[in-house]
Parts: sequence; structure tokens; C-alpha cells
Amino acid sequence: MNAIEIEGLDVWFGEGADRVDAVRGATFTVPEGRSFGLVGESGSGKSTILRAITGLAPNWTGRIAIEGSDLVGAKRQRSFFKRVQMVFQDPYASLHPRHSVDQVLSETLHLHGIPDIDRRVPKLLSDVGLGPRFRFRYPHQLSGGQRQRVAIARALAGEPDILLLDEPTSALDVSVQAEILNLLTDLRAERGLTYLMVSHDLPVIGHMCDKLAVMRGGEIVEVMDVERLRTMTPSHPYTQELIAASAL
Ligand code: ADP
Ligand code: MG
Repeated sequence: MNAIEIEGLDVWFGEGADRVDAVRGATFTVPEGRSFGLVGESGSGKSTILRAITGLAPNWTGRIAIEGSDLVGAKRQRSFFKRVQMVFQDPYASLHPRHSVDQVLSETLHLHGIPDIDRRVPKLLSDVGLGPRFRFRYPHQLSGGQRQRVAIARALAGEPDILLLDEPTSALDVSVQAEILNLLTDLRAERGLTYLMVSHDLPVIGHMCDKLAVMRGGEIVEVMDVERLRTMTPSHPYTQELIAASAL
């Protein structure tokens, strides 16, 4: 089965003279258990696709199907968030400053109706490579990488099938980026997760994904296997430019 099917997706913001057509005619599918990348320069519409899926970009037409069911409008049911979770770029902004790690994870487990919370929290922490001593810390007592691990633990709490990852390492020090990417790779292998990952960084997508779509100005200019990236044989000149610019 396909985890995600996107067909002829248009997404826009604003109306009349203020209207911005952020995504036009996007089409791609992500089979279950695979990792698909969206790459392209800033403002090309990558995050908007993830936002349309999660209901954060309400104006869209076309087709979005998750595990075979078509989404309608912008309201997502609780059952959607049981299957699909998002990890954002900035773990500083995505964690509430006055909530301890324990509160964040306990509340999320509670919302998903998962029992045995006291035992689950340390397990979730260890799943993302954090020891039990992190449980009662606050965001300001964590490094950027540790915060992103907590954000990933929160996303995993309801045991989703699909993670939408929006530049999950772009806000982190270079030395920490690889650790987080490796954690994400291991989690996907262990759990058979499906990833839809956004990055402006072609090498990151090349490392993490089996297949990718190259976006420019709201449109997908090329969809290809990551193999084609490695053998440097993309067909679209814009993709060749991106490769040249990233010294891949
Ligand atoms: P990317 O993630 O590729 O950097 P985005 O998807 O964030 O790009 O943005 C695509 C386009 O949509 C940009 O022109 C951006 O300015 C515009 N855009 C994004 N969010 C909004 C919004 N809430 N209101 C108006 N325009 C927006
Ligand atoms: Mg973005």
C-alpha cells in the first residue's frame, strides 16, 4: 500500500491580489516503509506540502491520501495524528519552555490514550538515545540535539506509521546533524516507518531518502530515485545546478 499519495496538489495562501500560489500541481507517492525527500531552495513550497497534509495550510485542491484514505478539508481527526506525526526544524520553538520533558511526553502519551505512562516515558527517552536523567529537565537545560531528540520522542509516542520531517537538522550544529540523521535512519529501520522529509540540503536528502522530488517555485520539476543523484544523471537542468552547487 502507499503510505502517502499526492495528486495534482495546489496550495495557496491569501485571496485576490494577496494570493500566493505556494504549490502547483504536485504529484508523488510514497510507498509504506520508504523514505521520500522534497528538496529545493527556500520558498519553493516544500513545507507547504507538509502543512497541507497536517491541516496547517487550509486552502488546497487536488488529492491527498494517507494509507489509502482521502483527506478532506483542513480538519484532521485525532486518528490522523495517531498515524501521522510531524517533526519541525526548530526544537527550541516546538517545545514549551516551562514544560519538563516528563510533562511533554506524559501529556502526549495521555492524549493518545496510551496506558502505563510512568513506564513508557523512560522507554521513549531511551528509544531516542536519552538516559533517564533527562526526564525531569526543562528545554533550557538541553542542547539543541537533545531537544530535537525529545521532539522526536514526542512524535513517536503514539506509535505513528508516518513521520513528516521538516528540515529536522537545519537548526542544529553541523557536528550534531549526523547524530540526529543516524537516529532517524535507525528508527525507520527498526519500526518500518515511512518518512516524508523536507530539506534544502541535497546531501541530507541523498543520505536519508530512496526517492526525491526536486521543487522550484512551487512546482515539482523532477521526481527521481536517489540512485540517479548518486550517479549524477538527473534529467532536469535545475537538478544538475543543485548538484553542482552542493558539491555532492
Ligand atoms: P520552503 O519550505 O520550500 O522554504 P514554503 O513552503 O515555506 O517554502 O513557502 C512557499 C511559498 O509560500 C513562499 O513564497 C512563502 O513565502 C509562501 N508562504 C508560506 N507560508 C505562507 C503563509 N502563511 N502566508 C502567505 N504566504 C506563505
Ligand atoms: Mg520550509
